[in-house]
Order: sequence, then structure tokens, then C-alpha cells
Amino acid sequence: MKFNPVRIMTVVVAIFLMLTACGQGKKAVSQNPTAAKEGKTVTIVTSFYPMYIFTKNIAKDIPGVQVVNMTEPQTGCLHDYQLKPADMKVLEQAKILVSNGADMESFMDKVIQQLPNLKIVEASKGMELLKEEAHDQEDGHKEEGKEHDAEGAFNPHVWVSISGAIQEVKNIGEQLAVHDPANAVKYRSNTEEYVKRLEVQKGKMHSALKDIKTRDIVTFHEAFPYFAKEFNLNIVSVVEREPGSEPSAGELADLIKTVKDTKVKALFAEPQYSAKAAETIARETGAKVYILDPVATGPKDGDPEAYIKAMDKNLEVLLEALK
Ligand SMILES: [Zn+2]
Repeated sequence: MKFNPVRIMTVVVAIFLMLTACGQGKKAVSQNPTAAKEGKTVTIVTSFYPMYIFTKNIAKDIPGVQVVNMTEPQTGCLHDYQLKPADMKVLEQAKILVSNGADMESFMDKVIQQLPNLKIVEASKGMELLKEEAHDQEDGHKEEGKEHDAEGAFNPHVWVSISGAIQEVKNIGEQLAVHDPANAVKYRSNTEEYVKRLEVQKGKMHSALKDIKTRDIVTFHEAFPYFAKEFNLNIVSVVEREPGSEPSAGELADLIKTVKDTKVKALFAEPQYSAKAAETIARETGAKVYILDPVATGPKDGDPEAYIKAMDKNLEVLLEALK
């Protein structure tokens, strides 16, 4: 594409006007006070909550580096997210964008093209991705009008397994070191320290879940395949494919049948989605609803410990549900 300076200026002015008019939403910012004094700040923007938590750990206590989360901590996965003017403003101030990749942020492709100086970190880079589950998992039914067009699409929820999180943290740390070489040593040592703690959590979960009796579970949206793979759990069925799409009466009936047939005792809803469908299935089958957290959302304060804390809670829930 050829660049037309007049057109670019028009776009820039239009965006500027839009931003001035709309103002800026509240953004979670973790800023080092010394950086502000020196007046030279490297702003790292993260696309959504898990990237924010990981990056906060990696950029911890580095003078002159601030981490800003583009979306609110309660936004969740970005499958249906639309960029807001306030997000644009945050991106324009950033040197680096930390994305999950694996198509989670594909809605940003066009915007990123408009910001040629923005360095992109891709957390899932080089990782072995699982294929998105085909829609025929529920007894081979395919009649709900939604043709499965995601042939070859990958499941982006890699951070939900601890091994995936560790790999993403390493990836983010290494790419930040490349894009901001002045702080490379600190990014790397912070990464190492955080990975060590994630490894401890992983070991703790593996040994606790080693001897659980039941391994069949039903989950919500496609967030858990990596988690299930890591802990050798068997996802019998998924209640909702994506947030906001409640199962149809027919799908619900199929799910109830699946739960009855497989004698699944535990349904895992997620904190950020309505548990209505799960409760209906529970009522009909006698299975119980538990909350399993894919850490796609979290507390507003952006506690750097949030991922490890959520996994601790998940472990507790799993032990209770699958004992
Ligand atoms: Zn998701």
C-alpha cells in the first residue's frame, strides 16, 4: 500500500478529535514514581487481563517502565471485543503492546498497521496450539445453523494451563528484553523469578490432582482445553461455546443427555459468565455447579499475584468437585 500523507493526516486529526470528544476511560496503570520524575517513560500496553498480570510481574520495579492494561480487568476474553477511542489513545502512547496472539487480538490488526512504531509482543509465539474444538462434539449434531467455519482455527486460551502461562511469561520477558534493551537484564531476572513461582504452583497442583477419582468434567466456553490437558482431565462437553451465546433448547437437551450418559458429577461455570444454563443442567441431572476461573478477568487493583491466587482457588475447587 502506498502512503498518502494527506490521508494519514486526516485520519490522525479525526482520531484526535474523537479522543478529545470521548475522553479517556479509567485505565489500570502501574507506574514507577522515579520514572515520572526523570520524564522518560517506556509504556507497555497489555491487551487484556492475563497479559496485564504477567507483564506486571515481568516489568516489576523497573524505573521508567509503566504497564497499562488496555481493557478493563472485567472485560474477559477479547473474542467479541471492539476497540474504543480510549483504547486508541492508550495505544498511541505505548512503545510496546503485549498481546496473547493465537488470534485473540486479530481485531486490532488494522489499528496496529496505523501505528508502525508500536512494537508487538506475542505471548503465544512459537507455542504448540490446540485446534479449536469442532462443533460436532455434542453427539455429532451440526444443525444449529452455525456452520463450523473455524476449520484450522486455534484455541487461544493457552494461559489457562500453568505450563502455557509459564511459556507465555518466558516469551513476553524475552521479547520485552529485545524491544526495550536498556531494561533487558531486569526483564530477564524478573521473568526468571516469576517463572520459578509459577513452577512451584504447577508442581503443587500436579501432586494434589494426581490421585483424584473423577476426571470427566463439563466446562463453559472453550477456555479449558489446555488446562484439562495439563491436569489430565477429560472435557466431556462445553456448555457455552462463547460468552453471550446461551445454548438453544435442543443443545441444552443434548447436554443434559450427555451429562446423564457419562455420569458427570461436576459442571464448571466461570466467574464471568452466567451460570444459568449450567444450573438448568444441574437441576436435571443431579450434577453440581462449581466455579472454575480461567483468569481472563480479575480484581480491579490488578494484583500481580492474581494468577497464582486464582490457580490456588481452582485447585481447591477441583479437589472438592472431583474427590
Ligand atoms: Zn475465551
